[in-house]
Amino acid sequence: MDLSLVLSDLRELVECESPSSDLAAVGRSADVVARIGSDRLGVAPAYVVVDGRTHLRWRLGTGPSRVLVLGHHDTVWPLGSLGTHPWSAENGVVRGPGCFDMKAGLAMAFHALADLDDRDGVTLLVTGDEEIGSPTSRALIEEEAREASVALVLEASADGGALKTARKGVSLYDVRVLGRAAHAGLEPELGVNATLELAHQALVVSALADPARGTTVTPTLMRAGTTTNTVPAEGSFAVDVRVRTPDEQERVDAALRSLRTVVPGASLEITGGPNRPPLEGVASAALFERARLLAQRLGQPEPMAAAVGGGSDGNFTAGVGTPTLDGLGAVGGGAHGADEHVLVDALPGRTALLVALVADLLADPTPALETTGAHRP
Ligand SMILES: [Zn+2]
Repeated sequence: MDLSLVLSDLRELVECESPSSDLAAVGRSADVVARIGSDRLGVAPAYVVVDGRTHLRWRLGTGPSRVLVLGHHDTVWPLGSLGTHPWSAENGVVRGPGCFDMKAGLAMAFHALADLDDRDGVTLLVTGDEEIGSPTSRALIEEEAREASVALVLEASADGGALKTARKGVSLYDVRVLGRAAHAGLEPELGVNATLELAHQALVVSALADPARGTTVTPTLMRAGTTTNTVPAEGSFAVDVRVRTPDEQERVDAALRSLRTVVPGASLEITGGPNRPPLEGVASAALFERARLLAQRLGQPEPMAAAVGGGSDGNFTAGVGTPTLDGLGAVGGGAHGADEHVLVDALPGRTALLVALVADLLADPTPALETTGAHRP
């Protein structure tokens, strides 16, 4: 692996901004990703365009797909972010929008797969809407995951380079209240106050959390009403739900769908639902054990395992029953924030680990499940 080439590829990726919300930007970025990937792998990708959004798929070799390597090229950074957060690579630290989440992972994937002697049976999928919940790539990801024996996700690592062995499932809801407007000074008694109903519902909804089971239920964005002197006729709040198990995702879903109004005359509309299923530790245990042993063999410090609250496309691959290991990408920190950065020193070792892991899985793609649970999260 040529580190200077990895860095120049990463720079090109970072300097082509790709906010998920801008289809044209995502399209431009896909062209850059396709060109760099084609140069490194010697094969052009298939363009899979869904609702105007570009995803890229490389099939390597001629055999059936066995190992799915998964990443995304969209970021949360709006156009113009390079003006305030320009590319830099100084003192062993790379900065720039999306460098850590997860353009460094893409550069690593290209160079790792280029380094493999035999890569027959590897599919590399790079999607363009991960940061908004993968509405147009989910079916494609699930289809590829079902075909493959394992999925390796190049998302950024957790603290200190830890691999992500469990991710919470995510559900998103919108709780909408319909009431009736009236003059707040003259005849408020004729109104049905949507703000009051929302207040009651926010308390009921937040009580669905179960910290002992790791379930969080958080009312977030809220709005209601039109003017300061009108009884609000309408309002809504969003609910962010995170769960460790499918059972909890179902429990919260059922509870949200059976909410009852408190304010006489008000009505409720609940929309949304489960977005990503949980990636449970059992889906990653055997793969994590392999990665740990391979790191040992490479003379690297043993990777740690981390269970995290944030979802990724690894939730979808695990959701269809494919063993999945996530967080194999860059070491660094500050994802989605001003401090987003990648540690250059860690790039060669992480890329070498990826090469070893893919080679090992191609030789024996069936991860035997450890029953001791010694290294489970
Ligand atoms: Zn990401």
